[in-house]
Amino acid sequence: MKPRAGSKALIREINEALVLDVVRVRRPVARARIAAETGLSPATVTGITARLLGAGLLTEAEAGRSTVGRPARLLDLSGDGVLAAGVRLSSTEAYVVLVNMRGEVVASHQEQLASTRPEDAAETIARAVRSTTGSRASATLVGVGVAVSGVVDQQGGIVLHSGSMGWENVAFRRRLASLMDTPVVLDSYVNSVASGLLLFDGGLGGRNLVIFSVGESLGASVVVNGNIHRGFNGTAGGFAHSSVGTGSARPCHCGAEDCLETWSSRWGIDRELERRGAAPGSLAGGDDVIESAADRLGAAAANAAKMFGPEGVVMAFTPEMNIPALTARTEQVFRGHYAHNATPHPTLELTATGPFDHASGAAHTVLAQLFTASTSDAAPGDSPSTAGVG
Ligand SMILES: [Zn+2]
Repeated sequence: MKPRAGSKALIREINEALVLDVVRVRRPVARARIAAETGLSPATVTGITARLLGAGLLTEAEAGRSTVGRPARLLDLSGDGVLAAGVRLSSTEAYVVLVNMRGEVVASHQEQLASTRPEDAAETIARAVRSTTGSRASATLVGVGVAVSGVVDQQGGIVLHSGSMGWENVAFRRRLASLMDTPVVLDSYVNSVASGLLLFDGGLGGRNLVIFSVGESLGASVVVNGNIHRGFNGTAGGFAHSSVGTGSARPCHCGAEDCLETWSSRWGIDRELERRGAAPGSLAGGDDVIESAADRLGAAAANAAKMFGPEGVVMAFTPEMNIPALTARTEQVFRGHYAHNATPHPTLELTATGPFDHASGAAHTVLAQLFTASTSDAAPGDSPSTAGVG
């Protein structure tokens, strides 16, 4: 591990993150307001904002109205000077988006995978990121976020299990980092989506939520006081591989039997219909399979929610699982599990997500680190920072 940054550098990093976060929430904003909200002295704020302007992280917007004296110059996040790349890796392609600090997607690109082998996937991602950033040589790339379906140890940079990629314990961040000269962050699809929601949906800051992702695979993101709860080795939210205990002995790609994944993911539904002789990908004649999927999903989501007591539950359905019969019944079953509960139940929101949300969420995971000073003992090179541009 590299030596830890000196305390002076660390304080500077924390203060820069504090200032950037106020600009993110209040943009455009005057320096005086930044000083008031951060508790930093006006002179310190002037010094920090000068550095951030020089690094291209901030821009100076047109003058705002001031009641006394000269009009205050307002600060905003940079629209094009600093970009983060987000990549959604699937078994067939790498889908890359470039996102500016305001969370706006400014470019996108797709590249087919030669195979799902980690070395092929890493090379495809590196190539796809290079082609997407090539036309924006003047911008600074602060990092690359990569979203992979499955259970991901974000801190360790390891894909613990991915059914769609066929991976177990793949140290994918290290492999990617050897191909790119910018920091890499690895996370699951659902945690990437959660990062995006937490950063750019003002109503979610500081809240307790459980976000379920329902698609080819199942995933969950547990948000405690506005932060993603990771659990031991990043295994929190792995409700796909909780047992439904019906003794049906459906084999799961994780090696166990009768996981929720085998009943309520698109992968599980397709395997069951194939077993019955249906044409690949067809849901014809599978009404009871959809019903069983919804019954188990609604119950599992309610059980998980009761464990954490969130204010809100979000169920995000990807296109292959956005089936009206499935979503309606899942909602009905979920709500039914709270019908006899005297305690207030969480709000339930059903949304549609897709590859775009996974890729932009992965970029938001990188951006989030600019607005949150890291005080952990992670090696400095492991997380994005503004070092080198300021
Ligand atoms: Zn399983």
